[in-house]
Amino acid sequence: MKTILLKNRPEGKPQTSDFEFVERDKPSPKDGEVLLETKYVSVDPYMRGRMRDEKSYIEPFKLDEPIQSAIVAEVVESKHEKFQKGDFLTGMLQWKEFQTSNGKGLRKVSKDKVSLSAYLGVLGMTGLTAYFGLTRIGELKEGETLLVSGAAGAVGSVVGQIGKIKGCKVIGIAGTDEKVEMLKNEFGFDDAINYDKTDDMAAAIKKAAPDGIDVYFDNVGSYTLDAAMENINRFGRVINCGAISLYNETEQPTGPRLETKIVKKSLKMQGFIVRNFEEDFEEGIEQLSSWLKSGKLKHEETIVEGFDEIPQAFLDLFDGKNKGKMVVKV
Ligand code: NAP
Repeated sequence: MKTILLKNRPEGKPQTSDFEFVERDKPSPKDGEVLLETKYVSVDPYMRGRMRDEKSYIEPFKLDEPIQSAIVAEVVESKHEKFQKGDFLTGMLQWKEFQTSNGKGLRKVSKDKVSLSAYLGVLGMTGLTAYFGLTRIGELKEGETLLVSGAAGAVGSVVGQIGKIKGCKVIGIAGTDEKVEMLKNEFGFDDAINYDKTDDMAAAIKKAAPDGIDVYFDNVGSYTLDAAMENINRFGRVINCGAISLYNETEQPTGPRLETKIVKKSLKMQGFIVRNFEEDFEEGIEQLSSWLKSGKLKHEETIVEGFDEIPQAFLDLFDGKNKGKMVVKV
């Protein structure tokens, strides 16, 4: 069976040569374990940070060891009292076609109501990130104006839709005209900006939101954040969810100083990691499931097929090849 290892710690943009495919024997489960067959693999921008040998909120990947990400797998053999053959489990697992587990950290999921891949997106880490970031940190209120970058991606597309559910004016920023059209026509955003065709982002935001921005959900960082800050209203909230535009930079660009703006406008700017809200995940999943069921929330995903395509699907996140959640179907 195939396994994917981290071969090199990339400098700048990662390449396929930073990954290595190796053949390993299929393992057998011991008492208290299950044998799992990988079905869907999540690839996520934060994994770029784990490729660096740096202390962070999550351990770095080890060189020459399997990469790990959120996965949905099927139990193909069980010596575990809680799990049966044919069950589907999700949690952090390794990039292997088959693996054994004692079930710790895994939860059962069902394909009866939603596709299994949804547990890696809208009903998984990215949906929960959107929900808790926006409601707990952004404290978004009806009638406010919400700006979200990375708007056509997994987190961003859910953020904008929750904004509409909450009765807000929503403006998205994304990297292609096709994504801009999708945000407006499929997800009901009030306006959307293609950053790749915009020389003056601060002016483009002002045009879309002449009365300013109350909440900015930042997925990309850097110059987009600077432009959003030019348009933020008094008592505005800035949610620092991610900064994908900086993840492959070898030198971090500098920007304008923000402290006087933060004081004068009484702004709140806060970063977060979705795991901070772990105790409330059930609440988040329940709310997101109910919006999905009622049709208020749409679930967009880009599904790439084949175990061998996992590294490329990860690399493609940095070229904006996905709409919604990027998932690999094995
Ligand atoms: P995603 O948005 O589905 O995929 C990444 C997207 O980022 C791409 O589709 C691309 O869209 C955009 N992008 C890539 N390079 C860019 C650049 N240089 N400048 C601007 N946009 C760029 O990924 P996601 O999983 O939803 O994650 C979105 C952000 O949330 C990331 O920053 C991630 O690290 C963060 N995140 C944080 C947490 C947390 O707990 N804090 C949890 C999950 C995710 P375009 O075509 O629009 O460029």
